[in-house]
Amino acid sequence: MATKLNIAPINTWLNLEKKPFIISGPCSAETYSQLYSTCKQLKSIGIQVMRAGVWKPRTRPGAFEGNGEEALKWIKDIKEELGVKFTVEVANPLHVELSIKYGIDILWIGARTTVNPFSVQEIAESIRGLDIPILVKNPINPDLSLWIGALERLNKVGIEKIGAIHRGFSSNDKSKYRYLPLWKIAIDLKSNLPELPIICDPSHICGNREMIFDVSQKALDLDYDGLIIESHIDPDNAWSDAKQQITPNDVHNIIQDLKLKKKNENNQNYKILLEELRDSIDKVDRDLIDILVKRFDLVEKIGEFKEDQGLTVFQIKRWNEIFKSRKKWGKNKKLDINFIEELYKLIHIASIKIQTELEKKEKNKV
Ligand code: PEP
Ligand code: MN
Repeated sequence: MATKLNIAPINTWLNLEKKPFIISGPCSAETYSQLYSTCKQLKSIGIQVMRAGVWKPRTRPGAFEGNGEEALKWIKDIKEELGVKFTVEVANPLHVELSIKYGIDILWIGARTTVNPFSVQEIAESIRGLDIPILVKNPINPDLSLWIGALERLNKVGIEKIGAIHRGFSSNDKSKYRYLPLWKIAIDLKSNLPELPIICDPSHICGNREMIFDVSQKALDLDYDGLIIESHIDPDNAWSDAKQQITPNDVHNIIQDLKLKKKNENNQNYKILLEELRDSIDKVDRDLIDILVKRFDLVEKIGEFKEDQGLTVFQIKRWNEIFKSRKKWGKNKKLDINFIEELYKLIHIASIKIQTELEKKEKNKV
């Protein structure tokens, strides 16, 4: 379905003197003094928009779930004292109502909320007719329509100051990231909605401090409009997401080192997509090696069995059967049967070698 949204240009609601536009601040507003000192330092390095979680979506109950309205009071004071803007996460109409009451400048919808059209619709209804900017994080699952759907729901109630945040996606695959960045989905979003501002959240993508610079640079290479980076006055002792939070001074260093590349969108996009594909190939090859190890473990078990039963290692019937069936399976999957034959020759010869060596070992024992 074609997407047509009315999007207010980002510079009508954000002061974009310097690109990239940076939002920073703690994962959670823990105490007044933690929030105040973090924001004061961020302000001193030129950050204008602070973030802080006031209601925290936690995977399991019992963890710190935010200070709610109390934290909004701190935010109101800090905004007045330091002259900064604030964004907080909202997940339901009550959060919206309270955020508006305490003068929050920008709302954001978290990944666990974007995933639920009922919740997004309720939030949309609660801001109908208001003039408040809202950023929408990608849903936790890689579903571009759901992400666009959330933006559409907001647009339908008259909100035009909208933007997207790419914070990575949940995945079962082993990966060095906490939430896998799927740059292609974000590129597709941008090509569907070229005027939509896109911000990258390297903190939740990485889940650690070490990779934040590289992911931020990659986002800028893809012409993202900004970054939202979690920072904390004392990251090691943060009450949530401690591993990925960095000090305001580290935020400063990252910003200093980031390079804004010249616009050559297409080439950059191709480069990043190529890297993403290569990452996927690496993952597949790692899985392939794991599967081979599994196969050779089974080969060893069969070898022990043959040894116990006094059977020969090489059995012509099995050899023929393997080639016949594997070629058939390969053909069904449209693979070249000569390739399958060569591959299984190698595998079967390696398997026989393993079993022969096992046999020798057993003999030496006697
Ligand atoms: C957060 O920004 O602290 C947060 C909870 O993010 P997400 O919705 O991306 O998990
Ligand atoms: Mn967080």
